[in-house]
Amino acid sequence: MYRGRFAPSPTGDLHFGSLLAAFGSWLLARRAGGTWLVRVEDIDPPREVAGAAQRQLDALAAFGLTSDEPVVRQSERSALYEAALQRLLEAGLAFECHCSRSDLAASGGIHRRCIARRRRPDPAIRMRVADDTLVRFDDALQGPQEQDVSRDVGDFVLRRAEGYWAYQLAVVVDDAAQGVTDVVRGADLLDSTPRQIVLQRALGLSEPRYAHLPLVLDRAGRKLSKSDAALPVDPQVPLPALRAAWSALGQEAAALADARDVPSLLAAALTGFDATRIPRNRSVALAAAHNTG
Ligand code: GLU
Repeated sequence: MYRGRFAPSPTGDLHFGSLLAAFGSWLLARRAGGTWLVRVEDIDPPREVAGAAQRQLDALAAFGLTSDEPVVRQSERSALYEAALQRLLEAGLAFECHCSRSDLAASGGIHRRCIARRRRPDPAIRMRVADDTLVRFDDALQGPQEQDVSRDVGDFVLRRAEGYWAYQLAVVVDDAAQGVTDVVRGADLLDSTPRQIVLQRALGLSEPRYAHLPLVLDRAGRKLSKSDAALPVDPQVPLPALRAAWSALGQEAAALADARDVPSLLAAALTGFDATRIPRNRSVALAAAHNTG
């Protein structure tokens, strides 16, 4: 049984790139007759914007994209992450790291072993990545991928020195706990996937299938969420944004021509959706996405 999800971080309002990931993952889940979940990834208080989580959920609702099950919030799930961390520590697969920023800089940013000369009162916890940890997976859109996690990433953080949970650990624990079979998200997370697979294997969890949607870039070639014109989508006027997202997903604009409201647009989208038309690129330009609409 297919279970998909959309997992926004509440670091700002829903923007066009996140609408694309939400709509794309929703379409793929619905077409597979599956379940679609929304999970709020609020584990990074310094980056969180007050009220953003609720505004994102309200915006999704205005676009007709609502979770089939109660929305889960990562800030309430520390016990699950703690249990996973303890298992890794007990198995010797994770360790306390006392390295400072300058220790890390000395190793070129890639952590291979703790070189700290002084113990910190608040060590980070890192995953111990064995030499030659070559991870391969087949992405449904981006094709075969491989990464030497030991060489390219090194021992990655599971819990930060400040005590915050790392995205990599929380996402793996939650995808497994929620029975997610298919992870559909933006291609900016393609490079994170091998780390997540390392964790799934270490924790004995099943590996979901992955499909990384092209990232929408603005005219200057910047990722939308990073650019100053992050292009928040207007939930008061949902049809143009849904049509633009539909076009960015490579779909025929004509399929939605008769839609007059959100329910009729989503119904037409479900009928007309052709997954083989999704661009198999790492990125698409926003201008092109709009022009094809
Ligand atoms: N919370 C992450 C983000 O907003 C996405 C997590 C995921 O889809 O795996 O970038």
